[in-house]
Amino acid sequence: MPSIKLKPFNEPIFVTRPMLPSLKDVFRELKEIWAAKWLTNSGAKLYQLEKELKKFLDIDNISLMCNGTQALELAIKALGLKGEVITTPFTFPATSHALMNNGIKPVYCDIEENFFNLDPEKIESLITKKTTAILPVHVYGNPADVRKIDVIAKKHGLKVLYDAAHAFGVKINGEPIGRFGDAAVFSFHATKVFHTIEGGAVVTNDPQITEKINYLKNFGITHNPIFHIKNVEVQILAAGTNAKMNELQAAIGLTALRILDQEIAKRKMVARQYRMSLAEIPGIRFLNDQKGIKHSYIYFPITVNEKEYGVSRDHLFVALKKYNVFARKYFHPLTTEYAGYEKGSWRAGRLPVAQKAADEILCLPLYGELKPNQAAQICKIIEAIPRL
Ligand SMILES: *Cc1c(COP(=O)(O)O)cnc(C)c1O
Repeated sequence: MPSIKLKPFNEPIFVTRPMLPSLKDVFRELKEIWAAKWLTNSGAKLYQLEKELKKFLDIDNISLMCNGTQALELAIKALGLKGEVITTPFTFPATSHALMNNGIKPVYCDIEENFFNLDPEKIESLITKKTTAILPVHVYGNPADVRKIDVIAKKHGLKVLYDAAHAFGVKINGEPIGRFGDAAVFSFHATKVFHTIEGGAVVTNDPQITEKINYLKNFGITHNPIFHIKNVEVQILAAGTNAKMNELQAAIGLTALRILDQEIAKRKMVARQYRMSLAEIPGIRFLNDQKGIKHSYIYFPITVNEKEYGVSRDHLFVALKKYNVFARKYFHPLTTEYAGYEKGSWRAGRLPVAQKAADEILCLPLYGELKPNQAAQICKIIEAIPRL
């Protein structure tokens, strides 16, 4: 066991740091917004960001939202989901909450152990007469098994809505992640790789779904700015909500998009360093890049096998803090452990793989400003932490 004395970092190293566009660039955008005197509701910046994101993500229809959670909730409404929806218990709370908030019963299906995504082999046994859809998450940006999920959905007449919050810019053999399923949802929260501080989007191949989302996010008001000019009466088409993205958010998105490739390239270098430095540590497993996949580099998850490593994930999590390293247990606990979920409001199959993942997972710091030698130092700490 190595017993080198290692010093804590001088500054706290958090699991992530937001990508920050240059203030000069942000200022230029702000000046234009001030000149236009238009702060929200289908402004010029919103349209420009929609246009640029359609190109970047290679998708035909997009609706920008105030955050990813509202994007999920309104996508569920626009797709007309009800009854039961099969989803994963190994995710951020928003995935499951979005179903609950729509009066839908989440049915939790186990995950596979390689990439922690929904296990397609275990979906069919959970389908009932009440099932209307499958809601998979591309966990850590690794694509769920879109082919198998598609086959199951078609066979049983189910919709598929992807929570693609982690998968911005991901491609499967050149095919953009947003083109799979009936719709996909992105989050542009500050902790995601591409962000608008708070924000999100629904993307889909079906323009009618986008049209629906566009009025649902604006109180159900008919979405057509021309109406005001042409003096056509507006109509309220549904009990919508207010989930619009404003011009300042859109401006941040435009500036963020300009430095995104740089950020991802830097994250890739950090991930490479982690993989080199962790390779020799017994009991620590990490995910490798997959052939044919363009990755998002949103997180760097590891699993801690207590037997082989010597101490538990929780022990490592606490020990790292003493060195000023703040890793995160994404995703622990499973959704089935949520204190606020009423009994009977959800159902679950057997979840041994998800339970093990929740017990062993730890996301290490990953962001563009993190230096590869800092990542190497974090690994030295992981190696040197005294085992029981
Ligand atoms: C971040 C995240 C969301 C929620 O997005 P917000 O923009 O923060 O509302 C939903 N699902 C997953 C998997 C996420 O990681």
